Amino acid sequence: MQDFGLDNYRELTAAQQPTWADAGVLESVRNQLGALPPLVFAGEVDTLRTRLAQAARGEAFLLQGGDCAETFVDATADRIRNRIKTVLQMAVVLMYGSSLPVIKMGRMAGQFAKPRSSDFETREGVTLPAYRGDAVNSYEFTEEARKNDAMRLLQAYNTSSSTLNLIRAFTTGGFADLREVHAWNRGFTDNPANKKYESIAGDIDRAMRFMEACGVDSAELRATEFFVSHEGLLFDYERPLTRIDSRTLFPYVTSSHFIWIGERTRQLDGAHVDFFSRVRNPLGVKLGPTSSVDDVLKLIDKLDPEREPGRLTLISRMGAGKIRDELPKLVEAVRDSGASPLWITDPMHGNGITTANGYKSRRFDDVMDEVQGFFEVHRDLGTHPGGLHVELTGDDVAECLGGSEQIDEATLEQRYESVCDPRLNHMQSLELAFLVAEQLVETARRKIDS
Ligand code: PEP
Ligand code: MN
Repeated sequence: MQDFGLDNYRELTAAQQPTWADAGVLESVRNQLGALPPLVFAGEVDTLRTRLAQAARGEAFLLQGGDCAETFVDATADRIRNRIKTVLQMAVVLMYGSSLPVIKMGRMAGQFAKPRSSDFETREGVTLPAYRGDAVNSYEFTEEARKNDAMRLLQAYNTSSSTLNLIRAFTTGGFADLREVHAWNRGFTDNPANKKYESIAGDIDRAMRFMEACGVDSAELRATEFFVSHEGLLFDYERPLTRIDSRTLFPYVTSSHFIWIGERTRQLDGAHVDFFSRVRNPLGVKLGPTSSVDDVLKLIDKLDPEREPGRLTLISRMGAGKIRDELPKLVEAVRDSGASPLWITDPMHGNGITTANGYKSRRFDDVMDEVQGFFEVHRDLGTHPGGLHVELTGDDVAECLGGSEQIDEATLEQRYESVCDPRLNHMQSLELAFLVAEQLVETARRKIDS
């Protein structure tokens, strides 16, 4: 068997790894994970790569969304369904507006580990290890809960498995049937974005009935592809779940279709870049406002040396105030280097604020502005704005400020549920989809004009 160097990362610096409470338990958990079945299959991963290649060419659009941090308690049928429903609704808005195929991808079924800016958290004079996601410890602020327990990696696997099972059932078992577009909106409050959605749903309904009358009954309308993704962070989880595929004979991370490397772990000589460069999954890399042209070109060389279509997605997260200044030089240099990665925007992580009443939040207007800036930059350079990466939930929470419901600081006190970053709620997600659809239409119009 070819040596793929999958353990090379052990010689390198691995940022953001927990110190586990019990080394013996860790060893046993790694062995158990190594013997468990894959969660996703190489064939699906390869399909995704071809879809992402389409998006990189401007022939499709990637919609990637879900929690900042999934939790074990929230992996319920209702909550998973609401998130899928929100992504499906956003996708309908985008497809209807732009006539482009939309690749649907959840930050789901594995988004259980978080990088943190500090190893510790202090509250009222008490210092405990930071919460690193349910795969590592528990959010509750007690010594017992914050212990880094490797047994949780098994629970992360099991919860990912049941989440993925439900995703597969929902997206292929009739729920995602385009004839159900109205049903996805049921239960949501009366709001301008919902009304706009209803009107699109009405148009789609008529088109579907027309096609039925013509005798068209395509499987594509009754089911949808839905991919999953998470940040590739914990080696003690990802390494045991990395397998050599018996057909292609290449290594695949089988915990997820798509893996991204975070802003805090993308060091060129670090363990994450080395490890994920050796697997076949399509990869993403987050690029914050301090990313240099040199960093980005070197990341491309390491992660996509063959310049394989669909292999690499660059996820810019600059902040609304910086994107128009910081992004153009990167996009331009990448374009001029001859590489053609997929560029997508994460309008969440550069726009964090802390409210006067102490909540981690984001202003919906900043999110919208960064998305707008992303499209402007790509229009100016003639490159493709290929996708959107957002933190969202299908539930009616109040975590981001603004939007048509005008969520204010006081409302955060009533409906803030995130254990990590603030998410767009269902309505804000739909509103954002309408803005993106408009931008896609404008981009297409400029292409025709030029
Ligand atoms: C995230 O996506 O939740 C995250 C931590 O992002 P970033 O790496 O861009 O900070
Ligand atoms: Mn986040």
